[in-house]
Order: sequence, then C-alpha cells, then structure tokens
Amino acid sequence: MKNLIKKARRLAKPFRVTDDGFRLKDIKPDDTLEFTSEDKPRAKEALAMGVDLLAELQDMLYAQDRWAVLLIFQAMDAAGKDGAIKHVMSGVNPQGCQVYSFKAPSSEDLDHDFLWRCIKCMPERGRIGIFNRSYYEETLVVRVHPDFLEKQKLPPELVTKDIWKERFQDIRSFERYLTRNGVVIRKFFLHVSNKEQKKRFLERIQEPEKNWKFSANDAKEREHWDDYMEAYEDMIQNTATKNAPWYVVPADNKWFTRVVVAAAVIEALSSLNLHYPEVNDEKLKELARAKRALNSGK
Ligand code: ATP
Ligand code: MG
Repeated sequence: MKNLIKKARRLAKPFRVTDDGFRLKDIKPDDTLEFTSEDKPRAKEALAMGVDLLAELQDMLYAQDRWAVLLIFQAMDAAGKDGAIKHVMSGVNPQGCQVYSFKAPSSEDLDHDFLWRCIKCMPERGRIGIFNRSYYEETLVVRVHPDFLEKQKLPPELVTKDIWKERFQDIRSFERYLTRNGVVIRKFFLHVSNKEQKKRFLERIQEPEKNWKFSANDAKEREHWDDYMEAYEDMIQNTATKNAPWYVVPADNKWFTRVVVAAAVIEALSSLNLHYPEVNDEKLKELARAKRALNSGK
C-alpha cells in the first residue's frame, strides 16, 4: 500500500498547480511522461490496483466520518470527464460517493447567487463528492459568452470590468472556508487538444453507437477555442492554491488521463492519515458480551 501511494504521488506531481505561476503551454495534452502506448496494458493494470486502493481508503474515510472530499472536473467537450469519473470511481462503494452534473442553470438557479446551486450539493462528511462541471463554469462559459452573464439578473452597477477578478476572489474565499471545515478539495482540468477533440467528434458522428453523444452545439463551441483556453489559464492561475490545487491532466490519451486522476485522488486521501475509528474499553466489553451471548445461544 505504501509503495503504491508513493508511486501515485510521483505520477500526479508534475500536473499539480498550486500557485499563479502556471502557464497552459507548459502542459502538453498528449504528454504521457515516460510511458508509451506500448505501456497501455500496464497502465490499465496500474489503474486497477489504484481503484482497489481507492476503495480501501474510501472505506476508512466513510468509517471515520470526519473529512469530506470534493473532486471537481472541468474540461472542454469530449475531453473524457465522464469516462474518467466512471473508471476512477468504479471500485468505491456507491453509498460513499455523490456525483452531480452542472448544466446550463435553471431559472431558479438564476434567481440566486452563482454559488447557490453548488452549495446545495456539497458532500457530507465521510463522503466523496464529485462535481461534473461546477461553479467554475461561471468564469469559463459565462466569460466566453457575455449573454449568459446578462441572464443572471445582477444589479447592473455590480457588473464591472472587475467581475472576473471578484469571482476568483470569492471562489478562493469559499474554498478556504470549505478547507477550514474539513472539506478536501481537488480540481481537475482534463486538457485535450483541439485536434484530438475534432477526432472524437468525428468518431461520434461516424460510429452509430456514439451518435447519441454528439451535439452540434458542442462542435460550434470549437469556434471559441482560444477564448476558452485563455479563460482556463486565467482561472487556474487565480484559483490554484496549496489547499485546493488544480491538476492539469493531459487528456489526449484516455488511459493516461485516468491513471493520473486516480493517482491524484489516492494522494489526497492518503494525506489524511485515515484509520478506522478506535474501539474503546466500553465497546470491547460490549463485543465480548455479545460474543458470549451468541456462543451460548443456538
Ligand atoms: P455531456 O455532453 O458529456 O453529457 P456536458 O457536461 O457537456 O456532458 P451538457 O448537457 O452538454 O453536459 O451541458 C453542459 C453545458 O452547460 C455546457 O455547455 C456548459 O458550458 C453549460 N453550463 C454549465 N454551467 C453553466 C453556467 N453556470 N452557465 C451557463 N452554462 C453553463
Ligand atoms: Mg456536452
């Protein structure tokens, strides 16, 4: 277990961002570190071991019932968010895990502050909460498409040129608040290249069983690619902190993406010194009494 945790730490480290010195161009979407596509079967094996380890750690997290873990996934379409969530969390007990997908806001959402709908979905202690998209969309799609901001019914004098800076500030404060309350936050940007996204869209069009995944609107969003990349970079620079780091994970190779995400989650859980609750004398006596009763009865 210790060895696996050490390996996970090493694997996740190159992609962890904890301050504002980050540049998007420093992470290549097709990076696979020292692994080549020939290592794919080994990567799958490593993922399977990682999934088992995660299940063990999650069991202790649940039993201990002190920490909550919040995993946030952001990415361009077809970067593999759904697949990464599915594979990495495949071994954990569904009772200990809560997944929420945030799509375009409802009219009820728009009648509230921008964090409102996400605050309602925060993980309970002992659980792992997963946000498939999140309040970070408020600095991404809403920034790229100003008409979304208009729909938010904010008092006009509050919408100034500083609005994004203010949102970053508010998000940092919110995440600091959560951290101080025992919520462990890890954020993932699955970084796919423009070229690979095009290839995946074409597959969705060409392969009948993938047709359902294709949306003409997703393909249209490609026109705003550069604006999105700028928004992502600015967002990561402004919201990456020691306690709530971003992981910018190369996403052109799904097998690699999943291993890195699993490694980062293992790292987060293993840093919590998790253990099963200790049994006190009273409980030991109760167990002994129950054993005697069971043994003496039929
Ligand atoms: P998939 O397409 O794999 O089912 P998805 O996360 O892309 O998953 P969609 O049904 O396409 O799901 O809906 C997500 C859309 O909602 C995205 O285009 C996203 O930008 C948009 N969205 C999410 N949050 C907001 C927000 N706060 N304001 C406006 N649009 C948002
Ligand atoms: Mg979509």
